[in-house]
Amino acid sequence: MTILDGKKISNDIKDEIAIEVSKMKKRGEKVPHLAAVIVGNDGASLTYVGSKVKACERIGFESTLVKMASTTSEIELLKKIEELNADDQIDGFIVQLPLPKQIDEQKVLMAINPDKDVDGFHPTNFGKMALDMSTFIPATPFGILELLDRYKVETSGKHTVVIGRSHIVGRPMSILMGRKGFPGNSTVTLTHSRTENINEIIKQADIVISALGVPNFVTADMVKDGVVVIDVGITRVPDETKPRGYKITGDVDYENVSKKASYITPVPGGVGPMTIAMLLKNTLLARERHLANS
Ligand code: NAP
Repeated sequence: MTILDGKKISNDIKDEIAIEVSKMKKRGEKVPHLAAVIVGNDGASLTYVGSKVKACERIGFESTLVKMASTTSEIELLKKIEELNADDQIDGFIVQLPLPKQIDEQKVLMAINPDKDVDGFHPTNFGKMALDMSTFIPATPFGILELLDRYKVETSGKHTVVIGRSHIVGRPMSILMGRKGFPGNSTVTLTHSRTENINEIIKQADIVISALGVPNFVTADMVKDGVVVIDVGITRVPDETKPRGYKITGDVDYENVSKKASYITPVPGGVGPMTIAMLLKNTLLARERHLANS
């Protein structure tokens, strides 16, 4: 069994990007600049955004954190997005989800200039991804592709079962695994909460990509020997032995499933760190495109 070590691979990717940044500096070019907008004080969201900004600093990007109150109106947020769209210094930006109830998430994502949409959530970018055109692939699916690629996990002709159909992970993952090319060329089944006989479907999978957010949902009796397991789930489970009072748990019963798997991602240290690395990669791409078009 091989552990797909997202921590190590994400550090490799960050090092590669840092080299590109130092080349840009040597050429006297502006370095990539990522902005992150956060609305409200949700603890998990603040942690995610904080790690994204820290990662920018580590590799030499410029970064801007835009903090807005939880009472921010939709109009105020759309105005901020307009400003970021127009700001030539900023190559890419993200709006951390979820947003407070008074704000329509779709309206906000639609307002982001697709050329700066480094999360790849805008319909233009999502459509391009589905049509195999060059675009920003959403960071988590992009990170999973990169892990499969760097560990040379065979995907062609394999049956990939994706659990969860969210717009940010499950849905794009199902499209990407079915694309022509590597990683891809899989026969894909996309499952969700209405799927009947889900256990039998998972049992047929050569590759399981689990993104539902239910701790230990995938158990050893549900998978076949030699399965490849990608665990996207991140759930905070109360644990008084930890200083923070909780531990991070994936969707997969790692201890037992890993005994049957050929490859598996741990949680933490699997898909999570890859997501940040690929956001940085998309920002580098945005800078390069910005430069090419200026
Ligand atoms: P989400 O929007 O939370 O949706 C969950 C999906 O799982 C839905 O499609 C839902 O089906 C399905 N589902 C729920 N219970 C199910 C069940 N019992 N059987 C089968 N399917 C079920 O999804 P998400 O935003 O992709 O998040 C999923 C998990 O991944 C969360 O733990 C999240 O924290 C984590 N995540 C991690 C990263 C990372 O960087 N590692 C990034 C993003 C998300 P319906 O559509 O029918 O409701």
